[in-house]
Amino acid sequence: MDILKRTKIVEVLKREDFGTFVNVKGWVRTRRGSKQVNFIALNDGSTINNVQIVVDVDLFGEEALKAITTGACISVNGVLVESQGKGQRAEIQAKEIEILGEADATTFPLQKKGHTLEFLREIAHLRPRTNTFGAVLRVRHHLAYAIHKYFNDRGYFYLHTPIITASDAEGAGAMFQVTTLDLDKLPRNAEGKIDYDQDFFGKSANLTVSGQLEGELGAMALGSVYTFGPTFRAENSNTPRHLAEFWMIEPEVAFNEIGDNMDLAEDFLKYLITYALENCADDLAFLNEMYDKELVERLKFVTENDFVRLPYTEGVKILEASGHKFEFPVFWGADLQSEHERYLVEKHFKKPVILTDYPKDIKAFYMKLNEDGKTVRAMDVLFPKIGEIIGGSQREENYEKLFERMEQMHVPTKEMSWYLDTRRFGSAPHAGFGLGFERLVLFVTGMTNIRDVIPFPRTPKNCEF
Ligand code: ATP
Ligand code: MN
Repeated sequence: MDILKRTKIVEVLKREDFGTFVNVKGWVRTRRGSKQVNFIALNDGSTINNVQIVVDVDLFGEEALKAITTGACISVNGVLVESQGKGQRAEIQAKEIEILGEADATTFPLQKKGHTLEFLREIAHLRPRTNTFGAVLRVRHHLAYAIHKYFNDRGYFYLHTPIITASDAEGAGAMFQVTTLDLDKLPRNAEGKIDYDQDFFGKSANLTVSGQLEGELGAMALGSVYTFGPTFRAENSNTPRHLAEFWMIEPEVAFNEIGDNMDLAEDFLKYLITYALENCADDLAFLNEMYDKELVERLKFVTENDFVRLPYTEGVKILEASGHKFEFPVFWGADLQSEHERYLVEKHFKKPVILTDYPKDIKAFYMKLNEDGKTVRAMDVLFPKIGEIIGGSQREENYEKLFERMEQMHVPTKEMSWYLDTRRFGSAPHAGFGLGFERLVLFVTGMTNIRDVIPFPRTPKNCEF
């Protein structure tokens, strides 16, 4: 085949210089046609749209074309021509076709007919080749980019917080232990306990559940920082909203108080959704058509309306007065379940809700205590279909109050002296939050299971690929 520079299909479909020679490479979605002419729908992942390759059967021979089956990878040299059909402008009249990789039709699992999302989860190594996962993964990419852009444009610094940590201080969930000790021959100390002196770090270590505590150290120096990294929680919750390995975005801002934190969360979410609407229109239109006819409408609605801001105490009153039968009980002091969160958002307000001022006993030790002595300056952002998408707070900046709270909640103050140092030296009000990246991708794509918005999900009893 002649050497011709490859053009991505996303570019080919925009071109109007009909008559020019182009080369495209991609994976065959379908091949159909008659004895005279075949049509190949080719996709290279650059867009949800396929380019149509028009093939003169006599030119290639019926036998040779048989190897061009769904899933095969081909390279095509041909002439860009104006499409006869409606929809797309450009198609390619094939002159040369090279098969780069065949895909045996009897064993290739992805055939023309649609597959269930459950089945696709079992072949997660191939599912990126489907329209659905192509769309989801492109949206995921654009959202990740938009997150960096949002913060960069506003003078935040990207702080890389550790993935291996020795502090279990967050208490955000069960942790995965990291060790090089031989589990068959664990060394014991004089008291008969595992001797972590002999472990890699000389102490017990885990995978991080959050970058927040280190993020606070960064904020107290750089002013405005954010983290965006993987987090790990060994919680055995097999829900459509929990993964054992997920990505989290955590801004932390010096001098911000709870109101600023809410403003940031609302502006940030609206920016990201707007960015997706503007930059992922084809993919969102596909997902809207296939899975959720109200998707685009819902995304627009969220960007156009103010979020409700409501104290937890008021939220509980609404739930108690609702007369709705919940699976889990509601009372002041209860940790709200996703059914409660969704009731407030979907049934009562019909808008995203930022719930604030939670009882201190159901929240982490570092949250700033309110004057009432009972509640803390926590804020959870609750979204339709998702429930909690963001959890955050204003942090306790007073050394004595923080120390007392840590003691009460059995957080080891000695091991955490590095954290307490921020309050000892030049303490300042500050606030931040954690946005679960996959929960955001769930919301934006309209998918309903978190396993379908990350390339290779990790959940209890599932660590394939
Ligand atoms: P939930 O109550 O939904 O389990 P959480 O209160 O434990 O969440 P936080 O510790 O506040 O979560 O974490 C911040 C954000 O990270 C959450 O708002 C959510 O978007 C996301 N998140 C938390 N746990 C998970 C998980 N297991 N899988 C995916 N995302 C998660
Ligand atoms: Mn939370």
